[in-house]
Amino acid sequence: MQYGLNEEQEMIASTVRSFVENEIYPHEDLVERTGEVPKEIAQEIKRKTLDLGFYACNFPKSLGCAGLNHLEFALVERELGRGSMALNHFFGRPQNILMACTGDQIEKYLKPAVLGQKMDALAMTEPGAGSDIRSMSCSAKQDGGDWVVNGTKHFISGADHADFIIVFVASGEIDTPKGKKKKITSFLVDRGTPGFIIRDGYKSLSHKGYKNMILEFTDCRLPDSQVLGAVDGGFDVMNEWLYATRITVATMSVGRARRVFDYALDYAANREQFGQAIGKFQGVSFQLADMITEIDAADLLTLSAANKLDQGEPSNRDIASAKLFASEMLGRVTDMAIQIHGGMGLMEDLPLERFWRDARVERIWDGTSEIQRHIISRDLLRALGA
Ligand SMILES: Cc1cc2nc3c(=O)[nH]c(=O)nc-3n(C[C@H](O)[C@H](O)[C@H](O)COP(=O)(O)OP(=O)(O)OC[C@H]3O[C@@H](n4cnc5c(N)ncnc54)[C@H](O)[C@@H]3O)c2cc1C
Repeated sequence: MQYGLNEEQEMIASTVRSFVENEIYPHEDLVERTGEVPKEIAQEIKRKTLDLGFYACNFPKSLGCAGLNHLEFALVERELGRGSMALNHFFGRPQNILMACTGDQIEKYLKPAVLGQKMDALAMTEPGAGSDIRSMSCSAKQDGGDWVVNGTKHFISGADHADFIIVFVASGEIDTPKGKKKKITSFLVDRGTPGFIIRDGYKSLSHKGYKNMILEFTDCRLPDSQVLGAVDGGFDVMNEWLYATRITVATMSVGRARRVFDYALDYAANREQFGQAIGKFQGVSFQLADMITEIDAADLLTLSAANKLDQGEPSNRDIASAKLFASEMLGRVTDMAIQIHGGMGLMEDLPLERFWRDARVERIWDGTSEIQRHIISRDLLRALGA
């Protein structure tokens, strides 16, 4: 296992970090204040990412993309994590599940997605089915050669800007020794398809401007050609392409924590009380020591999980540990940074209260902390036959 980065990997990280500092940071206050990303700013970020050769950098060179491996892509996500989610959404990283496209889907969805011509979103969660995703009730039934979809999805990030959505629906049931289980199929659904509505979702505490939307299907007819992967093979395609994406939450948490830490360190060095820098008080300096230790630990755990993926080693538990530890670390680090800033930490004049609010969702989306603990402990116990 090698944690040291080579020159090219260091270059990837520093290029993306400069991009975030120059192209994302300057617009953050506006997005935070208005809850919107102006179209021209979104287009500008997209254009500059394309020019830089980083658009869809998680896709292979055969498609004209950068073809980064998991470790390199983790570095990109880590640096993007420093900036606003709403803005860095346009530093396009289409869902890599689009690699499951076949036939006409390649020209209609995969290629436009990696060229920045079409944007995607991914919909699994429903009001009645979150962690227990297999209990979903949004369904597709066959009728006269079409699939007819009915139901609701909620919390769907980026659907406001999406040209099409990858939607997982229940396509039947199978009998198993543990009872009936839903079969799942994934579909590519174009915005504007009759019977399909994308509407405003909830106002979230975290990540202003990065909206979550509600999708409603009412007798929405989809031909077989819209099935992504195999009919009833939704879980296969999900397992093949999606489980690695949980690393993203971990790496972004690390990047944001480093940005938060820089504020705390600077303040501790410069704010004086009782005639000296507050960083000279052990009560403050020890918090700094704990923060950087936790950040470094989360960074190593995350890069190690990404590296394992690249080596083709089983990494489900490592990914879950990285997601769990890094997202919880970010919560602790943002909290300590506010404490070090005293009252100023709570004021909107500084971005710390925003980082603290933004941190909260990382323990929830892409599988809650409890679900990560479940994955980790099941992996350990299963090995002993328990
Ligand atoms: C801002 C935002 C954006 C999102 N974007 C998307 C998106 O783009 N696409 C998408 O499909 N989804 C998205 N999600 C959904 C997200 O993945 C879910 O919120 C998450 O999986 C949890 O589901 P839930 O909110 O329904 O909570 P629930 O599953 O109802 O969980 C409630 C509580 O019960 C606990 N719990 C549940 N089961 C267990 C168990 N077995 N053991 C122990 N504790 C358990 C949970 O940990 C949690 O504390 C988004 C969510 C948010 C908040």
